[in-house]
Amino acid sequence: MCLFFICGFFQPERPELCLKKQNSTRNTATSQILDDDDASSPGGQQSSASFWNKTVQSLSERSLEVEELLEFFGRLGLRHDASAAEAVMPSYDPWRSTTNDVVRGAIIPLARAGNCGLAYADCLPGARASTSTTLPDCMVSHTWSALFLDLVAAVVADALELDEYGKVAQRLAEPGGAQKLLQEVRRKSCQRYWICAFCVNQHAGICNGFGSEPTPGSDQHSRWDAGRRDTVSGDLFKLCSCSEPKYFDGPLCEMNKFDGMMGLLQHRQPNLRHLVAVDRRFELFSRAWCVAELVQSYLSNLPQTVLLLSNRALDVQAEDLETYNCLATLTVLECKASREDDRLQILSRIPDVHEFDVQLQAVIFGSRGLLRNALAGFDRVDAAARAARRAASAAAASEGP
Ligand SMILES: [Zn+2]
Repeated sequence: MCLFFICGFFQPERPELCLKKQNSTRNTATSQILDDDDASSPGGQQSSASFWNKTVQSLSERSLEVEELLEFFGRLGLRHDASAAEAVMPSYDPWRSTTNDVVRGAIIPLARAGNCGLAYADCLPGARASTSTTLPDCMVSHTWSALFLDLVAAVVADALELDEYGKVAQRLAEPGGAQKLLQEVRRKSCQRYWICAFCVNQHAGICNGFGSEPTPGSDQHSRWDAGRRDTVSGDLFKLCSCSEPKYFDGPLCEMNKFDGMMGLLQHRQPNLRHLVAVDRRFELFSRAWCVAELVQSYLSNLPQTVLLLSNRALDVQAEDLETYNCLATLTVLECKASREDDRLQILSRIPDVHEFDVQLQAVIFGSRGLLRNALAGFDRVDAAARAARRAASAAAASEGP
């Protein structure tokens, strides 16, 4: 009984982040969906689980093709890719606009449907005719605080089977760049991507607000304030007035179900991959949602593809040492989220923060870690030795006796 209790067996809300191995994660998610299909007895717990599963299922059936992502990108800003009538988000600047800016300035307005709102992916032609062929091939982790250009470039580079995205970003930012890349990706096999900014219904969450205001003067307040303004113009984003019901937790919330989706998709889509689009400033590793996703997919043995701006090994002599030291001393306790409630929710579901941090180090530095190829030369640095020790102990712990 104690074990069931500790594992969250009796919690009305399923913990979204359990440090579980692949088989148990997969079986749990699968059996939940299968149970749901023939669920007949009504009741509070069961219907809550059933709503939870339906949300996971509908999230997992959304995705967009890389062509659709490029077409969207081509419409941003007053550039030459789009005709004036089609242009959205006139303030868009590829070298300054973040994903948060694009969600607020383009995705939310474009996904409004009368009084309601949809996920952007559900507004695309054919989105409603979901079949097994429209399941995502790849789940993408990225941070909303980084350049949207880096996210798009990483996805396009992945579709083009490149191993870094810097040159793609340069090309995308040029006038007409998106059109040329569109021709190139059309010659490759079609890949579908699950990207939270496009696949979560933002109207069922953040569209009409920015979360509660933190204490003025705090770091958190500056981040909160930055998040409600367009990085380029400095203007406050307009709030959406749709009447779509909002859910920030619970069975109908779409923002906390990455691990459930991962489990379900691993079952339905055997070739599923996890693309980690690492922004040029490595901010992804300090964002609570991203870190939770990285550790979950690592422990689920989902094949991870990491794309960096450049595969040039980090330079121990240059400013990279600072980046390196930040990564080597990362702890989930210091990770940030735009909503403090989200951060606390993520932390509350990590049973052992120390163990989680050790896993995080293995995710980044371990022998199958994300940055294993980018860190040549750092073995002479004390921090590296420390990280290697932590990664080794994590590997030993994860492999068991
Ligand atoms: Zn809305």
